[in-house]
Amino acid sequence: MSNHLSDRIKEMSTSATLAMAAKARELRNEGKDIIGLSLGEPDFNIPDFIKESAKQAIDENYSSYTPVDGYAELKKAIALKFKRDNGLDYGLNQIVVSTGAKQSLYNVAMVVLNPGDEVILPAPYWVSYADIVKLAEGVPVEVATGIDTDFKMTPAQLEAAITPNTRMIWFSSPCNPSGSVYSKEELEGLAEVLKNYPDIYVVSDEIYEHINFVGDHVSIASIDGMYDRTVTVNGVSKAFAMTGWRIGYIGAPEWIAKGCTKLQGQVTSGANSIAQRAVITALEAPVSKIKYMIDEFHKRRDLVLGLLGEIEGFKLNVPEGAFYVFPDISAFFGKTLNGTTINSASDFALYLLENANVATVTGEAFGNPNCIRISYAASEKELKEAIARIKAVL
Ligand code: PMP
Ligand code: GLU
Repeated sequence: MSNHLSDRIKEMSTSATLAMAAKARELRNEGKDIIGLSLGEPDFNIPDFIKESAKQAIDENYSSYTPVDGYAELKKAIALKFKRDNGLDYGLNQIVVSTGAKQSLYNVAMVVLNPGDEVILPAPYWVSYADIVKLAEGVPVEVATGIDTDFKMTPAQLEAAITPNTRMIWFSSPCNPSGSVYSKEELEGLAEVLKNYPDIYVVSDEIYEHINFVGDHVSIASIDGMYDRTVTVNGVSKAFAMTGWRIGYIGAPEWIAKGCTKLQGQVTSGANSIAQRAVITALEAPVSKIKYMIDEFHKRRDLVLGLLGEIEGFKLNVPEGAFYVFPDISAFFGKTLNGTTINSASDFALYLLENANVATVTGEAFGNPNCIRISYAASEKELKEAIARIKAVL
């Protein structure tokens, strides 16, 4: 029988982060000793106090369909969290809970974009942005940034990328994959440009908000003139080590929230009942309860930067948040190592996988062809061993 796969799916790329993680799993099953530094997934267990509330929710029979936009109690906890951590006032009609921040992002693209609308993506950007935008028939417009500006887009670059078709800008801070954190002044610079373009909306992906080593997370929605045109995206996968629980959420202008609820009502319905109850507990807890994980990521960042810095040919910025380093490894292009010629970041990542048994992700998947992404959400022992292996094969 012939294959009738839709053009939409044929043209879509497979998530490179998930693909690399699957490849690492496959090699491990074959008996290879692979160290996986490809997936952005905390290696901590979910804190016990959150687990307890999930167990309680099961016993209390939270087993029916949930409201499409999330339990009111959870939305209240999210509203309080936005106020407490970000100084943002979102009403419950502006909040939508989804099956992971990934679904939140997809919803927003489907709700805001018409075919041909352009979305500015400062590169490097998170792997799924470009394909989500394309799925909504939008056009990703990459703005290349380099290590010299700490992988951040400048106001002049933003201005130059805007066309009459620009509808949105999507970015994450702290950034996956570069770890860069936009300061208040830098966000004000971008907001200043946007003053002249009232019809451009911003998706501010703040899922790494708490994993911030400089300590002053600023939401762009809190900057003058930005609240009515920003969708603030967040979730519990990273800070609370709840990747498999699949809860993300947005705070947004009401018309966008309504559109997301309408879409979700036809596609997935409300998010998982038990996970939502557990997330109420997670968000109501003071941030100090998860500080031990953040301190550990900070320690590992310093360890990884120190060790990678000893490898000739690795050019590094100092990531201020998230749990990735994004070294520029273009110095290796054109070189032949152990019989393999390295012509791209993908060649380099594959070389590390096959020769050092270390899984990383090519920067090409994040819109930067000179870098690779290394996740340091792994134990200190694994990180030391992985970098020693990388050093040995280079
Ligand atoms: N945004 C960024 C920047 C991410 O790194 C991730 C990680 N998966 C997501 C969104 C999606 O997170 P979730 O697990 O909530 O879908
Ligand atoms: N966000 C993580 C990453 O970038 C998880 C993988 C994914 O959802 O694509 O590795």
